[in-house]
Amino acid sequence: MKSIKNNLSEIKSKINEKITVVAVSKTKPIDDILKLYEDGHFDFGENKIQELIVKHKELPKDIKWHMIGHLQRNKVKQIISFIHLIHSVDSIRVLNKINDEAKKINRKVNVLLQVKISENDLKYGFDLNEIQNLLENNFLKKYDLVNVLGLMGMASFTQNNNIVNEEFKALNSIYSKFKKIYNFTTLSIGMSGDYELALKNNSNMLRLGSVIFGHRN
Ligand SMILES: *Cc1c(COP(=O)(O)O)cnc(C)c1O
Repeated sequence: MKSIKNNLSEIKSKINEKITVVAVSKTKPIDDILKLYEDGHFDFGENKIQELIVKHKELPKDIKWHMIGHLQRNKVKQIISFIHLIHSVDSIRVLNKINDEAKKINRKVNVLLQVKISENDLKYGFDLNEIQNLLENNFLKKYDLVNVLGLMGMASFTQNNNIVNEEFKALNSIYSKFKKIYNFTTLSIGMSGDYELALKNNSNMLRLGSVIFGHRN
């Protein structure tokens, strides 16, 4: 079996160096994260607050932690002081809460707006139409302590590449349309099974778990 380190460096060697790989370490032990950290990788993603907090506490403080899972408002406070990027802002209420908590500690917090591009009802996020309307109406203006860097999406779990491609394309079209107006820098699409398609659709941030760490139980 190949090592975690080799898995990541192989992927990085195939893609443009400007693309950020977030190593999704959810359910994986501290030691696995350290192996990559010691090899010079700093971006890690978690989807559960409790696990994120424990890992942040135990690991080196220059790790850039990405929150990629659904975030409840009452949990925002627990990560606001150290989180590098919240990918999963899926409602105005969460955005308001992040801004409020950020204000309390006077820290600017980086976020992405999660857009629901999949048919799957279980996925969180703004609807495509909703996000388009909000962006057209300049709703980000009032958030002085939130830096909205761009958009995030998850495609359907399907073997049908056409479906995945259409979903990524729809998100990229909104991202590209508003990129200049809002100085967007980040389009977070692409997971282990679909990152090549995501790259074809302008992704510059991949969230990769199982292709790096192996399968989760
Ligand atoms: C788990 C997870 C990933 C990584 O999934 P893999 O298929 O293992 O690469 C990416 N994004 C989100 C939001 C996740 O929850």
